[in-house]
Amino acid sequence: MADCELLKGCLFFNDQMAKMPAVADMMKNAYCRGDNTKCARYMVYQKLGRTAVPADLPPNDVGRAVKLISGEPAV
Ligand code: SF4
Repeated sequence: MADCELLKGCLFFNDQMAKMPAVADMMKNAYCRGDNTKCARYMVYQKLGRTAVPADLPPNDVGRAVKLISGEPAV
């Protein structure tokens, strides 16, 4: 599967995960180099655009992504 087109500039991996390289690698393999359609960040990007994706939204927090997309407050 091709790499996610957002991987190079993905704020989550270039900022939030800098201190946890092993976990970051696992997530990258599962989502960014695996199936990005299951990534919470990618879901928000597709529906609302890149600027709407919170920097700290992890790929596995689909619940928060769904709330953001539906307009519910998501903390
Ligand atoms: S975290 Fe999600 S949006 Fe970011 S590069 Fe990986 S798959 Fe793409």
